[in-house]
Amino acid sequence: MGQRTLFFYKLLIFAGKEENIRDVVIVTRLFEKLNEEKVFKDPVHRYIHVRDQLIWELIGTSEFQRLRRIRQLGTTFFTFHGAEHSRFGHSLGVYEIARQIIDIFKNRNDWDDSETLLSLCAALLHDVGHGPFSHSFEKVFGTDHERYTQAIILGDTQIHRLLEQVDPAFPEKVADVIGKTYGNRLIVSLISSQIDADRMDYLLRDAYYTGVSYGHFDMERIWRVMRPAGDQIVFKLSGMHAVEDYIMSRYQMYWQVYFHPVTRSAEVILTKILHRAKVLYNQGFAFKHVPEMLRTLFEGKITLDDYLSLDESVIMYYFQAWQSEHDPILSDLCARFMNRRLFKYVEFSKELLNANEELTEAFREAGIDPDYYLDVDFSSDSPYDFYRPGEEGVRQPIQLLMPDGSLHELSSESDVVGAITGKRRTDHKLYYPKDKVLALPDRSQAKKKIRELLHI
Ligand code: CA
Repeated sequence: MGQRTLFFYKLLIFAGKEENIRDVVIVTRLFEKLNEEKVFKDPVHRYIHVRDQLIWELIGTSEFQRLRRIRQLGTTFFTFHGAEHSRFGHSLGVYEIARQIIDIFKNRNDWDDSETLLSLCAALLHDVGHGPFSHSFEKVFGTDHERYTQAIILGDTQIHRLLEQVDPAFPEKVADVIGKTYGNRLIVSLISSQIDADRMDYLLRDAYYTGVSYGHFDMERIWRVMRPAGDQIVFKLSGMHAVEDYIMSRYQMYWQVYFHPVTRSAEVILTKILHRAKVLYNQGFAFKHVPEMLRTLFEGKITLDDYLSLDESVIMYYFQAWQSEHDPILSDLCARFMNRRLFKYVEFSKELLNANEELTEAFREAGIDPDYYLDVDFSSDSPYDFYRPGEEGVRQPIQLLMPDGSLHELSSESDVVGAITGKRRTDHKLYYPKDKVLALPDRSQAKKKIRELLHI
């Protein structure tokens, strides 16, 4: 029992409220520093340091442990086989970056320490609502991981019970920081802005695990030039090149890793499997392997507990099992996913856009259901941007702190960043099973038509 706990304990005995003693002991325990710092070995940050009892206990909750079973990069492992890392590691990484930045601020007396625990909790929990293969789930079932993050922090969960012991208003505050509505904007921008703890961790972590050579930048240099200024974090001019490097690495990672067409092909198949299973379920199809754990999801009445019981092992189990279902579409799509027989792709050109109906019709004629075997996928990103009057969407600019104390927006000082500011790159691809098309009999008119339109 720490000094402070002991004090409260005595105070309560004195007040004669013995029945509350256990609760209060827990409350004070959560505020305490651990007697001995705990560390997690981490390949990106070397060590993750945990000094607060509360952080330690949050990591131990079942809702947080579940993140071990959800990959950070979804289907990217089909392209880069090293990319098996989990959201658990990423969440610890974001926490560690926030902790280090706050430490630097504190050492310069630049930080309000009463916001430290809140910032660390928000950093740790910012992705806790992610489900298995979130993006595909969101497309098919309309689930929203940000809404689940809020629900987990505010609902009937182990995480909520820990947070509310700090202070009944504390869970709400953590949810507000993550939801970007918290009054102190400085804390919000530490976790989510164009250069924040979240992005710094995922860029370095994803580069590490995919094994690509882009994605690296000098993070510690950036930490050292960060300065809190009112409601935002600004960067000393002397660190501009490190910030440029960060922006460029983000740009590279998006196009080389995150939007990789093979990864997207696997995601298209995954989405189609979920779609097919949902359609079959709602038609009363007699599954050999009934998707018990997906029932409420298919019926559109999923509860928080149901959601929390889902992870990628559960999904992979069904995909593995459904390879032997009698429905040829479901079994084929599952076998494709399990064995990486992905769809091929072509640029979705203007020519194809105009011929889309013709192409869809040819697929139907050939007996290849276009609802499940044809998809146009769209990727888009602008590497750096800032709000301009009259435009939609507020993106706080990255501000450089000049030697005279004034602030200059990054792209006005950096030619490199200036060259890509506000430039949106988009990419449309059409995905289809080339093997199925080529397996059609040569006399098939539909086959001829498809090959002609897709230039294969
Ligand atoms: Ca994140």
